[in-house]
Amino acid sequence: DFWSWTNGNTNKEKTLAIIKPDGLLGNHTDDIKKAILEYGFSILKEKTIQLDEDAVTRFYAEHSSKNFFSSLMKYMTSGPVVVMILEKENAIADWRALMGPTDASKAKSTHPHSIRAMCGLDIQRNCVHGSDSLTSAQREMSFFFRELSAVKLEDTWGMFGNSEG
Ligand code: UDP
Repeated sequence: DFWSWTNGNTNKEKTLAIIKPDGLLGNHTDDIKKAILEYGFSILKEKTIQLDEDAVTRFYAEHSSKNFFSSLMKYMTSGPVVVMILEKENAIADWRALMGPTDASKAKSTHPHSIRAMCGLDIQRNCVHGSDSLTSAQREMSFFFRELSAVKLEDTWGMFGNSEG
């Protein structure tokens, strides 16, 4: 099913990456994708979409009661985003490492080669998102790429049919 697709039977891991509106508006998309490929990730899926308020509310549900949520909502709906599924060994942690810390203004001194240091501005406008755990990676990949789930469920159904003769 979808979850075995996300974990695979190889040692490769998948994660969800987003180039946020400030990344696109600032024309950082090509540089960010170049860094992703140079770091050894494959980009398995990619699409550019405009998030609406409903999507942001569901995607960032864990932050909905935070004081910065309305500002985060404005930011995340301010323009299109690029959502991608990245794959490599240790993809979840490695993508978070390449992104750098949440606060892009601090990243400039502590993680100067990170994407957030290079492209981000502050604790909100930090250019990129990455799943923070296997559970979030699975949730976030199916959130944006629901079609994968449907395809894989069909495959599984077919397999059960075969094994039962
Ligand atoms: N954010 C914000 N204000 C804050 C903290 C976070 O606007 O004080 C935004 C920021 O864009 C961040 C996102 O909310 O990337 C999610 O926050 P989280 O703490 O999960 O950081 P991340 O996992 O993205 O580093």
